[in-house]
This record gives sequence, C-alpha cells and structure tokens, in this order.
Amino acid sequence: MSKIKIAELFYSIQGEGRYMGVPSVFLRTFGCNFKCAGFGMPRGELSTEVESIAERITEFKIYEELPLVSTGCDSYASWDPRFKDLSPMLTTDAIADRITEILPFNEWEDEHLVITGGEPLLGWQRAYPDLLNHPKMSGLKEITFETNGTQKLDPKFKEYLTDWSFGNDEREITFSVSAKLSCSGEARHEAIKPDVVCEYQEAGHTYLKFVIATEEDAEEALETLDIYRAEGFTGHCYLMPVGGVESVYTLNNRRVAELAMKMGLRYSDRLQVPLFKNEWGT
Ligand code: SF4
Repeated sequence: MSKIKIAELFYSIQGEGRYMGVPSVFLRTFGCNFKCAGFGMPRGELSTEVESIAERITEFKIYEELPLVSTGCDSYASWDPRFKDLSPMLTTDAIADRITEILPFNEWEDEHLVITGGEPLLGWQRAYPDLLNHPKMSGLKEITFETNGTQKLDPKFKEYLTDWSFGNDEREITFSVSAKLSCSGEARHEAIKPDVVCEYQEAGHTYLKFVIATEEDAEEALETLDIYRAEGFTGHCYLMPVGGVESVYTLNNRRVAELAMKMGLRYSDRLQVPLFKNEWGT
C-alpha cells in the first residue's frame, strides 16, 4: 500500500481560483522544489522569518502550533526539512479514513478535493491512484492539483488521470498552476516551464494564477502569459494578491483587482485570509 507524507489534511472553503467558495478537503503533501523567500519582501531581498521559528522548533509539538509568517512562503513547514517531523507519513487507507471523518456527511457530496503542498506533483504521483481508487473516494467528482507548474506528469499518472474522468461528465481534474514570478525569489529559468504546463492541459482543465504585489509584477505576469500562450497554453489567467496575513493582503487586494480588470485578466481572491486569517487548517 502506498504512503504519502502529509503536512495538513483539513476541511474548509477553497479561497482561491476557479473553485473559490466551494467546500473542499485539502490534502497538503510534504516537499517542494522551491522556497519562495522573496514573497512580501523588497525586490531582490529574501525573507529570513522562518529562521527564528526553526531555532525554536522544540517548542512546537504539532503543525498547528507553528507561527504564521507575513513574508516568504506561507506554507513553509510543508517543505522545509527542519519541520519534517511534524508531517506524518500516512497510508492511503489512513488518508481515505481521515477524509471520510472530516467530510460533513462522512461521504463525498458536493465537496471537491484539493491536493496541494508544498509541491504535490514532486514526489507522490505514484501514490495518488491508490488513494483515488479507495472505495471511500468513489463519490469524489472534482480534484484540483495546486502546483507550481514545474513538475512533469509521470506518463502512467497522466494516463490514470485521463481515465479517471473519461466518459464521466461529473468528474473533472483541474491543475491550478501558480507559476512563480521574480517576486517569489525563484530563478525564472527554473520557475517558468510552459512545456510542462501545456502537458497538464492534456490531463485536465488548466489555469495560471500569478501572485502579485506591484504593477511591475502584473506586467511581468502579462509578459509571462505570452510565453505560455506561444507554447500553446489556452487556459485562463488569474492575478492574486500577495499576502498570507491580513495586514499584507488588505494593502493590495483592491489594487490587484484593478490591475486584473485593466489587463483583461481574472482576479482571484484568497478568501482564507479575510475569512479565517489564514490560520492552519483553513
Ligand atoms: S512553490 Fe508554493 S509551497 Fe513551494 S515554496 Fe513556493 S509558495 Fe511555498
């Protein structure tokens, strides 16, 4: 039986992108190929906020006790190896059981499954079919992979996903691709992989979602979108305000909405911030 290292598993409302407002189970896997320490920082600087948290690691017994951060990756503990012991390795049976427990009617109804991270396509592609084939997952109709768009699909997994939704109008796979612009602090040649993202389109509905702090970021998003389009990307594109904490989010959410309107792009909120203060488990 397959196992997946799980940073968080919780039930909430999807706050971002295409399924904004939809009741959703979030499966946050451990591991990422990026750090995104540039978010919320002046251009060219990287956040060191997590360093002081890591120095106090023995104070935190469970994931939910960890402090939230206002700069860098807001899900740092889902990939930073210093926090790995807070994320258990669970069998796919145990994950299916836990999902059934947290669904409001203990079975799938109109809820959707978000497989997020970390980077969920980094290390667990071979394990997902075991989970999705579990009898307790049979009522599931919609799945979103929240990915940074750099990881190629394993051919067998791609075939599995295509079969999963083939011939069933109620079932749909979505790839929500949060491609990283320079404000993330990641190198462009490693972050922007149009060929990888275009292949996702063959396995499911695929859209791009750029995190934006300034007009310069929005202009970079537009230029980057052109690169994806030139490769054959046909999906929608969202601009979403930076801000894992409310004080940062409220500084620029309206501005980003206005930029999205001006550029003819979609705006994505991050409802988990105003609704739930982006606390763990939301
Ligand atoms: S890709 Fe996502 S999970 Fe990974 S470091 Fe960046 S923001 Fe965090």
